[in-house]
Amino acid sequence: MSATADSIKLKVTDAVDRLADELERLSHQIHDTPELAFKEEQAHGWLTAFLEKHGAQVERGVGGLSTAFRATIAGRGPGPTVAIMAEYDALPGIGHACGHNVIATAGVGAGAALAVALGQLPFAGRVCVIGTPAEEGGAGKVRLMDAGVFRDVDAAMMIHGRCGTQVWRPTLGIIKVKVEFFGQAAHASSWPWRGVNALNAVIGLFNALDAMRQQLRPDARVHGVITRGGEQANIIPEYTSAEFYLRSISVDYCWELLRRFTAAAQGAAMATGCRLSVTHDPIVHEPLRANPTMSDLFAKNLELIDFPEDPDDGQAGYGSTDCGNVSQRLPTIHPYIRISPDGVPGHSREFAQWARSPLARTGMVAAAKALALTAVDLLASPESLAQAKRDFVAGGGA
Ligand SMILES: [Zn+2]
Ligand SMILES: [Zn+2]
Repeated sequence: MSATADSIKLKVTDAVDRLADELERLSHQIHDTPELAFKEEQAHGWLTAFLEKHGAQVERGVGGLSTAFRATIAGRGPGPTVAIMAEYDALPGIGHACGHNVIATAGVGAGAALAVALGQLPFAGRVCVIGTPAEEGGAGKVRLMDAGVFRDVDAAMMIHGRCGTQVWRPTLGIIKVKVEFFGQAAHASSWPWRGVNALNAVIGLFNALDAMRQQLRPDARVHGVITRGGEQANIIPEYTSAEFYLRSISVDYCWELLRRFTAAAQGAAMATGCRLSVTHDPIVHEPLRANPTMSDLFAKNLELIDFPEDPDDGQAGYGSTDCGNVSQRLPTIHPYIRISPDGVPGHSREFAQWARSPLARTGMVAAAKALALTAVDLLASPESLAQAKRDFVAGGGA
């Protein structure tokens, strides 16, 4: 790397360090105010105010989503766009148990540090921090892509907190399914034989899926909750519903899971005499496509700031993300950054506590630096960006 690029990187990491206290307060503020998908109004307000204060040009409510935003740090004239994505939605009941407060502050921290350290970027092109609502359940990034928010983006990146730092981990595709059983209500004691029991149907479906799981590929995941299970014990339930995620490393196998799931639901409906409806979300989550060039740049930047990758202990399976869909459209990375000790599962109350710990601050600061430095690499070296695009095509992207 040239001496100029070295001095640029030093300025940027220094700027992250100067912003670190403010970023940690912002992270805790979001953590203490968990907001669900598409309702992240306060987080949206705080994050955009932070970016504006530090010199980014902010557009609120982009792509038709009121809690989305785009903040631009402009360079010297026209050129490529590097996007840094920020998530800030929480989970129902368990708050920031996925640590999206850390994703948000790492992302806006990277953008603000570039603006504070460099003013106008000394390269052609620009960096955009894109605020992407509703990762947990709403596929906000897919909606923003459909609305054209990523149209000019050449490369995109974000980080996710985890119990270890790994730049590349696969994620699974998902088809989200809703199943409904329609029976007939009757008095559960005096006329039970006049009823058609929709609760038995949904229980039958869960049992059938538990048996089916034995014959699934090891990467497949089929899991659900009953969302309506009946109203009162003295009424034979006339209506029940459940939601399931059908996941696999391949979208084709997700469709195969849907075929088998539907057959199991038909069996449960037949066995109980219920009418059945199976519908799936039109948005299918896609698995992450790897981008070795961008991953290598990110890993080198982690080493540069002395926050190296951890070996994968192989103890955990894989989740899913709407960032997978982004990675199928353009060169993208989604590295994981340690914010908890080994072995703490995401979506747990324990992980929620770690997401506002000193370890989370350290991870957030390192992530903001590595994101900003990787954006510098991609804009400073057109060859790196060209190589990232070649990776994308070589991996089957179009
Ligand atoms: Zn999550
Ligand atoms: Zn998450």
